[in-house]
Amino acid sequence: MPQIVAYAAQSATSPLARFEIPRREPGPHDVEIDILYCGVCHSDLHMARGEWEFAVFPVVPGHEIVGRVTRVGKDVRGFKEGDVAAVGCLVDSCRSCSNCQKGLEQYCAKGWVGTYGSADPKMPGHQTYGGYSKRIVVDDRFVLRVSPKANLAATAPLLCAGITTYSPLRHWKVGNGMKVGVVGLGGLGHMGVKLSHAFGAETVLFTTSANKIEDGKRLGADDVVISKDEAQMQKHAGSFDFILNTVAAPHNLDAFTALLRTNGTMCLVGAPATPHPSPSIWNLLFQRRAIAGSLIGGLPETQEMLDFCSERGIVSDIEMIPMSKINEAYDRMHKGDVKYRFVIDMASLA
Ligand code: NAP
Ligand code: ZN
Ligand code: ZN
Repeated sequence: MPQIVAYAAQSATSPLARFEIPRREPGPHDVEIDILYCGVCHSDLHMARGEWEFAVFPVVPGHEIVGRVTRVGKDVRGFKEGDVAAVGCLVDSCRSCSNCQKGLEQYCAKGWVGTYGSADPKMPGHQTYGGYSKRIVVDDRFVLRVSPKANLAATAPLLCAGITTYSPLRHWKVGNGMKVGVVGLGGLGHMGVKLSHAFGAETVLFTTSANKIEDGKRLGADDVVISKDEAQMQKHAGSFDFILNTVAAPHNLDAFTALLRTNGTMCLVGAPATPHPSPSIWNLLFQRRAIAGSLIGGLPETQEMLDFCSERGIVSDIEMIPMSKINEAYDRMHKGDVKYRFVIDMASLA
């Protein structure tokens, strides 16, 4: 099997470093992609530092992948050599359960195959290895189309940060006449603000960082609230239809459920390493409020999101880094110092 260059963490305490991984030869339905850009998601950091119980090592993170097709299998119809193509968080699923048949592969009843850190059904004995690498081979059903005219580096983060915010905003029918909160201005949060604004909702950003107020407004927020300031929070009590919470760390959820109106929902997409303090049941009972969760998005909805963003010219605000700066980028992301997504220029991985 061909070996290719990648960057991996060998354990929860070792920094990411150069590592060789095998990639399968393309089968009849496979698309081989030369990776141009890969976004850096906080989930990559959670996994590489062993913060989630299912972390496996060595891990080659990266699930915001944009690249160019180099080879396709004989039964591939939708892609050809030279096309721009993208891969997100999933590379396979059972394809037969009722969720897969509805295009909700992220909720596959038998368990999906993640782009990294899943047992690889096509290479027994190996884990799947992600986008911090030169090349990837993926079944065509899990490959997405990107306009070649797009800013490809700034499109990469749509593959996770974009779909993870698009899917719940669509599911809860966010749009004109609704007041929507987005909590946390990081990779997910800045896409949440852009998309909620694009859907026509009155959008309020909640941040812990006073230095992100101007950016929040520039990205599309009608108002920005410093969530540590109780007086500012109090002004919005009982007024939100929907809140999308992207924070990567445990925090007091009651401060936000109190801002929901009757029947309002706060959807959690942040996945902290340790639990949030238990939320107040009273906040939920008294106004029939809900706390929900949402996981990335299925393949059809991910393509819909890419097409929507392409039509509207929506991309991520990025800071490009060479592969060698990944450990520094993780340290900055850990401190909330990201504006607003790191993207690795894979040409730097010689
Ligand atoms: P990120 O870029 O690091 O942004 C997280 C933001 O949360 C920070 O910028 C910060 O915004 C806010 N925050 C407040 N207190 C924090 C603290 N103590 N530690 C860290 N952040 C804090 O992360 P991301 O890539 O957007 O990911 C956010 C979370 O979503 C992660 O847990 C990630 O694993 C998870 N995730 C879930 C899914 C899913 O399918 N549900 C998909 C992708 C990622 P302010 O400075 O504005 O307060
Ligand atoms: Zn992600
Ligand atoms: Zn399934």
